[in-house]
Amino acid sequence: MDFYLAHLILESPTIIPRRRSATGYVGVQKTIPGSTLGGAIIASLRRHNRITAQEAEEIVNNHALISSPAFPREKRLLYPAHPFIWKCKKPGCGRYITTLDQVLKVLGDGGELGPYIIPSTCQEGHSALEKIHPKPLPAATLRQGCGRPDEKEEGLESVKVISVSVSRHRASSIVGALYSYEALPTGLEYWAILAVKEGILDEGIDVIRIGRGVSKGFGKVKLRLRKIEIDKLLNEAPAKSGYTVLYSLSPVVLKSPNHTIDLSMYSQVTGRSTAGKVRLMAVYGSSLTVGGWDIRKNMEWRVVNAASPGSLVAAELQGGGVDLALGLVLLGLLGEKIDFDKFRVVGVNMLLPVNTVLGDVLAS
Ligand SMILES: [Zn+2]
Repeated sequence: MDFYLAHLILESPTIIPRRRSATGYVGVQKTIPGSTLGGAIIASLRRHNRITAQEAEEIVNNHALISSPAFPREKRLLYPAHPFIWKCKKPGCGRYITTLDQVLKVLGDGGELGPYIIPSTCQEGHSALEKIHPKPLPAATLRQGCGRPDEKEEGLESVKVISVSVSRHRASSIVGALYSYEALPTGLEYWAILAVKEGILDEGIDVIRIGRGVSKGFGKVKLRLRKIEIDKLLNEAPAKSGYTVLYSLSPVVLKSPNHTIDLSMYSQVTGRSTAGKVRLMAVYGSSLTVGGWDIRKNMEWRVVNAASPGSLVAAELQGGGVDLALGLVLLGLLGEKIDFDKFRVVGVNMLLPVNTVLGDVLAS
């Protein structure tokens, strides 16, 4: 597998439906679901005859292209906020307050969090705190909050698009077939992690089409790729057994309360040895329904009690050494496939060591 940091620049308004999604997650607001981005890349490769229809099918069936959700990028990478950061709503204040250091200390010792972890006021004594999770923010703010009033916040302006379905036979609009979408405006930038089988994206890819209405000119997105250096991430990954805290860039899905991830499964992916286990003990994040389409079984699937990107996961690591560290890096970049009775879920549990996210290591 090759790993890329993808940089997306919208070149035309882009319609990402917020609900009724058959192909992907309805995730964080203004976040592009990983399955939507992955599907758009495969479709573009196919359109330019870089792959055959059969190869496209194999890529999908073998999960040879996995994308994280795409998060906004404003000069820096923005990450979905963890649940332990708040913003003061008092006019003129706007400070960010976080109790992350305490959280990491308690969970790192294997303890449990109590209500004391939720602050009641900002540093100025205003009791008007608003939860931010999972809205995207820069790593530095997520790590230490922001003690001074921030500059005027530019709201993300979206464009309303009304789309009328026209009957092919009667050449008139169909009653009731009127949908209203929100379109992301031209110029917005996003980032995502792509894990791709070697060779598929060696020549790069220039422009992809993403979301709805691409035949009408919507969803033109410029895509720049930069290889992620695995060894740089290895330096930030824990290499010994014990309690740790992981940061999820994707939805978190647990198959059972004692969900354990065996990192040895990543050995075949890179040809380098991985080992060790991650036992997930507690997930802190807002709940989310994720869904998609299982191509092999040709059926829609849905998991109702997933946790949002930006969730923190308290975990116990078993094993040690570079095999464990590499396994953790690959868990963050590839996530986990989970087989339920009737369907398979991919692109979930992309759990990175907390320092990797908060240290903005992906951007370096
Ligand atoms: Zn305040």
